Order: sequence, then structure tokens, then C-alpha cells
Amino acid sequence: MKERGILAVVSGFSGAGKGTLMKALMERYDNYALSISATTRKPREGEVHGREYFFVEEEEFEKMIGEDRLIEYARYVDHYYGTPRDYVMSQMEAGKDVILEIEIQGALKVKEKFPETLLIFVTPPSAEELKRRLVNRGTETPEVIDARMKRACEEAEQMDRYDYLLVNDEIGQCTQELHRLIQAQHRRMSLHGKFVAQMKEELKNISE
Ligand code: 5GP
Repeated sequence: MKERGILAVVSGFSGAGKGTLMKALMERYDNYALSISATTRKPREGEVHGREYFFVEEEEFEKMIGEDRLIEYARYVDHYYGTPRDYVMSQMEAGKDVILEIEIQGALKVKEKFPETLLIFVTPPSAEELKRRLVNRGTETPEVIDARMKRACEEAEQMDRYDYLLVNDEIGQCTQELHRLIQAQHRRMSLHGKFVAQMKEELKNISE
């Protein structure tokens, strides 16, 4: 039987290069499933419903909350974002390692519900580089860039609640490092599971 997949959360400042990192990870390795979130934000140019996000109206989003169809959700700079439950659960059951690319409040909620979740925080090498990337992306207005930089300051306060900090300087190296971290967690969980089973068996035998 295939071993159950693990859950990994990747967070990071807006503009840290998480999107590129996720794309590179999916292209390079085939054991990952990237969860697609629902959001009430409008699609950016080039974004497709069902690929980057499920773009929904507030009313539909609130219905999903009411029906408990989200593992977690949060508000981020004026919009709702949330993780649909069914996809995550079925992919993990099928043995895939599921990645959630979500912000910090959601990450902490997931960790609370599933304590074995691996939390990874991605950051550019410096704050200056972060601003440069946000401006160069050219998809946000100056007001939104400012709001996102402000949000980055708040998020920096909580960075130490993550299991690992990953500096995204060179994308190839960063992708490999992310893969290594997730696979190490796999081995840890698997060893842990086997050890517990063996110990239970031995204890039973001894006490008989
Ligand atoms: P963006 O609008 O740039 O695509 O995403 C804004 C922020 O929302 C990013 O930090 C992203 O990681 C986060 N995000 C995307 N999907 C989810 C989700 O399902 N739940 C939570 N909590 N955050 C999300």
C-alpha cells in the first residue's frame, strides 16, 4: 500500500517568488500536488479559473465556509482566501505530498489542526529585493504594493513560528532545497510510524 502523503505549507512575503518556486517544483518532481485555493480577489492578467485559483464571489465563499468545505481560510489585504478540503484529503490518501501555498494566519490554523504539517517560510535575500520584485511584477498598483509591504512587516513578526526559513536567491537551488526538506519530513514520519508500530508489538509480546 502506498504511504500516505504529507502536508507542507509554503508561505512567504508577497513577491518572494513563491509562484515561480511552486511551478519549478511541480515541473521537476512528480510526487507533489499543489492545492488550488478559492479566493474573492479578481484574476490578474493571464490567471485562469481552476488553475491559479478558483475565483469566486464573496457570497459563494461564505457558503463554502458555512458548509465546512475549507480546511482554513483567511482575509488578506481585503480579500478572502481559503483551502478546499476535498482535494487535499484525497491527494494525501493517494500518496501525494500536498503543498499549500498560503499566508501565515492560514498556515498556523493548518498546523493547529494537523500538527505534523511542515511549515516553510520563503523569503527573498533582503527587504529591498522584495520591494524591487513587487514593483517589477507590474501587476499591482502602488497602493496595493504599499499594503503588501505593510503586511510583510506584520508577517515578519511571525516568521519564527515556521519549521524552516528558505532564502530564495537562486530558483534552481531553492527548488532543490524545498524538495529535500519535504522528503526529509517524509522519512521522519515514516520512521516514526514504523518505530511506534514495532514498539507496540514488542511491548505486547513482552507483557504476554
Ligand atoms: P495573491 O493575491 O498574491 O495570489 O495571494 C496573496 C496571499 O494569499 C499570498 O500570501 C498567498 O500565499 C495567500 N493565499 C493564497 N491562497 C490561500 C489560501 O487558500 N489560504 C490562505 N490563508 N492564504 C492563501
